[in-house]
Order: sequence, then structure tokens, then C-alpha cells
Amino acid sequence: MTVQKKLQKLVSIDTRYSEKKEDGLQDFLIKELKQNGFSVDLVPTDGRNNIIADNKKSGKAILFYGHIDTVDVVPGWSTNPFLLTVKKDKAFGLGGYDMKGGMTAILNATKNSNRHIKILFAVDEENISEGSWNVVENKKDFFQDVELVISAEPNFGLGLNGITTGRTGRVIFNVTSQGKPVHIAKYDTGLNAIYPLTNFLNLLEKSNFPKDKMTVVQPRSIETQTIGMSLCESAVAKIEVLLGSDDSIESMKKELQSLANKTNGAITVKLAQRKTPYLPGYRFETFPHQNKIADIINTHTGKKMTLHERSSVGDDNVLATLGIPVITWGPDGGGAHEPNEWVSLSSLNTLSHMYKQLLFIR
Ligand SMILES: [Zn+2]
Repeated sequence: MTVQKKLQKLVSIDTRYSEKKEDGLQDFLIKELKQNGFSVDLVPTDGRNNIIADNKKSGKAILFYGHIDTVDVVPGWSTNPFLLTVKKDKAFGLGGYDMKGGMTAILNATKNSNRHIKILFAVDEENISEGSWNVVENKKDFFQDVELVISAEPNFGLGLNGITTGRTGRVIFNVTSQGKPVHIAKYDTGLNAIYPLTNFLNLLEKSNFPKDKMTVVQPRSIETQTIGMSLCESAVAKIEVLLGSDDSIESMKKELQSLANKTNGAITVKLAQRKTPYLPGYRFETFPHQNKIADIINTHTGKKMTLHERSSVGDDNVLATLGIPVITWGPDGGGAHEPNEWVSLSSLNTLSHMYKQLLFIR
């Protein structure tokens, strides 16, 4: 099956995470992986299955990563999002770029290889990474002999020669200001919780405490509560942080708390609760087969390999918590999470040839 035919098949099956329908692709992927010489296991998450595969060759393994789920169909599509529509080199379809295209390149390149290869196709990436967390936490053995993770996520304009070796993390804090809610008639004796919080937000806007240039801090929302004719009792700001790898969740919490202490109120800083852990940032200075990959890239694209750090968060961060170098090396395209998402078919072919050439080495 050509890359295009395979992509057409993958796009035709609705795997929007919001519908929890990722299993629609399961049979196709399992059949394909088995035909390609892999033994396959399923790791269920909330009734949906992650797929892990191993061709059980000897030596250290290279692990290829893809996510089965896509985002929702947003308004503005001019073609049927589930029908791959090809115009010259652009193949339009939901998830074609993010990241069913990358998955087809993986499937093509890893067919009947003599090199040790593992594959992880995860669910729920576009949501809160429940799938990959589940695999990372409960299938530790699967990763034990993996020397390098290659994620075929979109390259987001970095080109086929652009490799991402680091990403920011992300965390959300609840910053809560506690007031003293006396009757409004006794205004002088109470404390309106909104003032310390706005004070805090002003300090936050003026401060430049993050160590890492990739770190971004922003207030996401403010909620307040006032009962009857009293002063405002409590006010909570959600503070979102994209974490560069030199800042950590703990260091940011400390910095926010010390800003809070400079206000006139009782302000506490806590992690906003979530089902899966927040992801720290990561950056790998070097990775296995780096020179070989640089050569392959140069041969196929005529360009020098470039290394990048990205301001985004995904399953790549979850895999990076294993301490195994993770590189993102994916196809060209556009419109991820937007209408009229497309992937470049020629880039998929080149990517799959580059992967294949890498797999000739041991
Ligand atoms: Zn993605």
C-alpha cells in the first residue's frame, strides 16, 4: 500500500478523542503491524487501547511514536475532513498532519526490518495524555532496551531537516486570595479578596522571574465569590505556565508564592488538580545516532540538520520523563488543529525513506 493509500485509510476512520473512538483504527493498525513482523500488545486506558509493538530483534531498540487520536472538526473545512483530498502535493484531511501522516511513514519504514524496533501508538494525546502516561507507568519493561525515541509529530515549519530535541512543560496553578468578608457597611474592618489578587497580578505582569527564555507565564482566568452584601470572600486566578527546561514546577511555585507574599493579603499558590501529572520541560543536548541522522538528512534534503526547542507540550514530554532521548522528526504540512489541515505527500515519502535508511544501521 502506498503512503497515500495508507493515509487515506487512516484519515477515513474517525478517531477524535472527544468521541473516545480511537479504537476504530485498532484492527487496521494491528493487522498492518503483524504483517510487518511485529508482535503486538494492547494497553487499555479508559476503555481505549494504546498499541505497543516489538519486532523482537536483538540489540537496543529505536522506538517510533505516534498518536491515534485527532482533535475535533472545527468550523471552516472546505472538504470532507474524513476524505483525503489531494491537491498537488497537499493531502487535506483531519489528522493528516497531526499525526496520521507520521504514522504512515512509521508503518512504511519499519516493515520487516532486521533492526530492533518498537512502536507506540497512543490514545488521548490531544487531551491530557492519559494513554501515554498509562503505558509509561505500567509497561516499564517495554522501554528498558530503548536507546532513542523518534516521534513523528508534525515539524511545525521546521522542515524535514529540523529536529526538536526539547519542549516546554506546562502547569496550571490556582492562586487563591482569602478575604475577610464583613458586611459592606463595616467596609473598613474587612478585606476584599479581589484587591490582594489584583495586586498580585500587577506584580506578576511586571516581574521577569523565569530563568528560561522559553518560559511563559499568563493568567488564564479569574473567579471570585461574594455572598450577599459582604466584601468579596475569595478570589482565584488560574496561572498557566509554559515551562522552559531551566525552570521547574517547584521553582515556579516558589516564585509565585514569593510574589504573593509581597501583597497585602493571604494568598496561597497550589497546583490546579488534574487526572494526569503536569509535564516538565525537557531538552536533550545529544542523542544516539545523531551524526548518522545528520548525514541522512543532508543526503535527502540537501540541508543541514538543525536542532530546536519548541513551545508546546505533548506525549513527547511524557516519554521524555523516562530519561531516554526523544527527538521529534516529522512531516511538513499545515493547519494542525485548524480547518483544512494538510500534510505534504512528498515530505511523507522522504521522511519514510530517511527513517528506513536510519534503520539499516545497528
Ligand atoms: Zn500531535
